[in-house]
Amino acid sequence: MLEATNYKAALQLSIFKTISQAAANLQLESYVIGGFVRDHLLQRGSVKDIDIVAIGSGIELAKEVAKLLPNRPKVQVFKTYGTAMLKTPTVEIEFVGARKESYQKNSRNPIVENGTLQDDQNRRDFTINAMAISLSKDTYGDLLDPFQGTTDLASKIIRTPLDPDITYSDDPLRMMRAIRFATQLDFTIAPQSLQAITKNKDRIQIITKERIVEELHKILRSPKPSIGFLLLEKTGLLAIILPELIALKGIDEVEGQRHKDNFYHTLEVVDNIAQHTEDVWLRWAALLHDIGKAPTKRFHKKIGWTFHSHEFVGAKMVFTLFKRLKMPLNDKMKFVQKMVLMSSRPIVIASDVTDAAVRRLVFDAGDYIEELMTLCEADITTKNPKRFKKYHNNFKIVRQKMIEVEERDHIRNFQPPVSGEEIMKTFSLKPSREIGIIKEAIKEAILEGEIPNEHEAAFEFMIKKGKELGLEAIN
Ligand code: ATP
Repeated sequence: MLEATNYKAALQLSIFKTISQAAANLQLESYVIGGFVRDHLLQRGSVKDIDIVAIGSGIELAKEVAKLLPNRPKVQVFKTYGTAMLKTPTVEIEFVGARKESYQKNSRNPIVENGTLQDDQNRRDFTINAMAISLSKDTYGDLLDPFQGTTDLASKIIRTPLDPDITYSDDPLRMMRAIRFATQLDFTIAPQSLQAITKNKDRIQIITKERIVEELHKILRSPKPSIGFLLLEKTGLLAIILPELIALKGIDEVEGQRHKDNFYHTLEVVDNIAQHTEDVWLRWAALLHDIGKAPTKRFHKKIGWTFHSHEFVGAKMVFTLFKRLKMPLNDKMKFVQKMVLMSSRPIVIASDVTDAAVRRLVFDAGDYIEELMTLCEADITTKNPKRFKKYHNNFKIVRQKMIEVEERDHIRNFQPPVSGEEIMKTFSLKPSREIGIIKEAIKEAILEGEIPNEHEAAFEFMIKKGKELGLEAIN
């Protein structure tokens, strides 16, 4: 995987030659550093961001690069950070001058001074993110790897260049980043680093919620999100960020009756669903689908453990949790709430698949029936192969029935076959309560299978229902 000495092969994009030329024009050194170098060595996916360090002004270098490019792209300058950004059609390139950083106690924003490449590498979070490749003409392609990042890549280790205790305390966001990289790359966090994270966990409080959520999204988007959540739990960060999940931990036993550990169960569900959807919000729904179980847990002598209305309580908790983490309180949140609220419905139906129950399920889930079924299938974590097969088979039956019912009754995106206007016209009514009652009765009759979802049948039913209410149709 790791080439021996020269890394010119990493610099195939023509932009590197341009940067090299621009740096020569300004008589300064420049390097490509960080994620690009790491991902190249890992042969990981396509390049979207490139970070360039100049020994001198990053902003000046960016402007010189723009001059040399055919269409002279605009340079975006971020004065407060001393950085500049240049966008080409395929990549975003960020330029910064090499810097030395020193931190204060209450902020993750350091005091910055100009520095050497070595200073700049020292301020990087992990050895695998601190590697640089030279773009200077005489050393073009040389790798500068003062902390043996290549070795750590090969042995799949997340390690900080300097003392981890100081690194994490200086900028506690790095704790989240360490866990996120471990999850994305399936790497191990070095034991000293893990200890330092545990020790500094409370410093996460100085990080904005938005940055924390950004990392949580990245963990959830990874192939196996449980890696990250187990590390968050182990270090104590999860108890601070998502205490609702920690509350699911543990197995109680009363009179020989036990329930499953809903924390580990949840993580299995999240890993399962990650194999079936890229939708990060459905992954959030999987993560939160059982959070109502902690506050609703009861033990009954006769029936054992129950979690009555945990779906309802859980859906309400989703709002509180999103609000606390400053996540969007929009249709994404409503989607997660809906999934949590309905997360047991297909399971209940699966044991006795009637047409009416399936019609109601499709009606209530609306546009999200597919997502709901995906969630419920991911929820099957039994280790008993017979049961595993049986449950999946039951869902196959539900899915088959959904197709049949849909072909016949068109419940998805249900439109009432008789409109409120038609009801008013037929009985010569002004807007009134009766219209709502009749409309609801028609919908119920269709869902129950008493009448088909057709105009004629619904019209007849309306006349009958009207009569019961003492209304008379005018011809
Ligand atoms: P990804 O794009 O997957 O997030 P990346 O490594 O490119 O990976 P960025 O957040 O773009 O991540 O950061 C670019 C580089 O800046 C990193 O590789 C690292 O060297 C450095 N860096 C970013 N954040 C920090 C931090 N909080 N502390 C120290 N160095 C950091």
